[in-house]
Amino acid sequence: MMVKIKCPECGSEGSLSLIESSYQGPYRCWKCRELFTIKLENNELKSCEPLSQEEFDRQQEIEALKAKFKKQN
Ligand SMILES: [Zn+2]
Repeated sequence: MMVKIKCPECGSEGSLSLIESSYQGPYRCWKCRELFTIKLENNELKSCEPLSQEEFDRQQEIEALKAKFKKQN
């Protein structure tokens, strides 16, 4: 499913495709390139915090590992 995310920095609406209705992880605004950690519950944005590039890379790695792990099961 696709969930709309409104960037708190520039107000642009982006979308994120999700497998589940809950998500916690990195999000990058397509327009201002600002990075955030977002938390979604039932397709609703619950929290959104600014994220550093370093932390973003680390979270991307974790997500990639999770995806890999899921495939193996
Ligand atoms: Zn933005």
